Amino acid sequence: MSETKTPATRPWRRRILRGLGALCGALLLVGGVLLADAWNAMGTSADGARLERMKESPRWGGEGFVNPMPMVEPELMEATARWLEGGDHRTPESPPPIERRARADFEAAPEGGLRITWLGHSTMLVELDGHTLLTDPIWGERSSPSSWLGPKRFHAPPLPLEELPELTAVLISHDHYDHLDTPTIEALEARAPRYLVPLGVGAHLEYWGVDPARITEVDWWDEVEIDGLRLVSTPARHFSGRTGFDKDATLWTSWAMIGPEHRVYFCGDTGYFHGFREIGERLGPFDATMLEVGAYNQLWRDVHLGPEQAVRAHGDLRGEVMLPVHWGTFDLALHAWTEPPERLRLAAEREGVRVAIPRPGQSVLPSSPPDVARWWPTQPVQTADEAPVVASHLDERALGAAAVMH
Ligand code: ZN
Ligand code: ZN
Repeated sequence: MSETKTPATRPWRRRILRGLGALCGALLLVGGVLLADAWNAMGTSADGARLERMKESPRWGGEGFVNPMPMVEPELMEATARWLEGGDHRTPESPPPIERRARADFEAAPEGGLRITWLGHSTMLVELDGHTLLTDPIWGERSSPSSWLGPKRFHAPPLPLEELPELTAVLISHDHYDHLDTPTIEALEARAPRYLVPLGVGAHLEYWGVDPARITEVDWWDEVEIDGLRLVSTPARHFSGRTGFDKDATLWTSWAMIGPEHRVYFCGDTGYFHGFREIGERLGPFDATMLEVGAYNQLWRDVHLGPEQAVRAHGDLRGEVMLPVHWGTFDLALHAWTEPPERLRLAAEREGVRVAIPRPGQSVLPSSPPDVARWWPTQPVQTADEAPVVASHLDERALGAAAVMH
């Protein structure tokens, strides 16, 4: 019996095995390509002279960089579980409206010498006293090491990357994926821009092919002067890392951009801390502040501001007009995507702060900011009372500001 059955079953088995083999091969190949993609995006760690310089920073804590103000560690397990659970209105039902822009829009110098254009998330094009700066550029499809997995952008980039005007420098705040986007850095290489980055971040840039001669690494309060423009690295309360094994291996920073006529401040990513007051005292007042208002939650209360604390920071910084950043492009938290501007409007009104809430691609002249008009849909959101975000370790008497900064 077995002799007659064997020849009949063997070809089938062989075919199945061959099919499975081909499938595994194809999966491995695709997996390999995707992994190579992600592997490249994870960047690399600092070594040699770069690492030695990092270790000399007052911010170096032995294993990595440390915030001067103590932090409550984010509750990552609960945060991830709740993020995966999903929620109402965290992403728009249809792409939000954008203003499509082209290089011609930036050919003429802005009236009054200062114009700020929101290109989505924390990507700002700042035209200031004859200079043009770009912050945390992200043109990539996802805020993730992978091109096929991770938070996907809500809207197309309002300005094609190749339409960017000539840049004085690109300023990077830290190495998280939504601020340091590998495909964007690689695409920007065609224009060979100059980079100003916090300590350690240059290692990633070099790994992706940026000429070290075009990278300047800075510690807090270091400043770089370019043709009359002062670019000052200022403190922030945050963290860094791209792999899960490199937490705080590179520094995070905010930036003050100081021209002969105008001053602006860009916060990068930060929780609320007393350092804002010192930045305001030393480098303010600012014609405009760009402050993050999205991706907040009390579960990670020391690493993102949220709208109410952003308004408070604007006051500490001695800002004139506040522009919100870090919202409206990626779903990185648990709140409705329209909650940041709704809460910001109320908080700004309550505190008497002038705020401009541009749509992606819209330019703002801080000397004559547009009225706040709701361009996003009206939908249910949680209020500041229902879901407050309050940073830890704040000395409400505010006497500790100097003590915590040094
Ligand atoms: Zn971050
Ligand atoms: Zn971020």
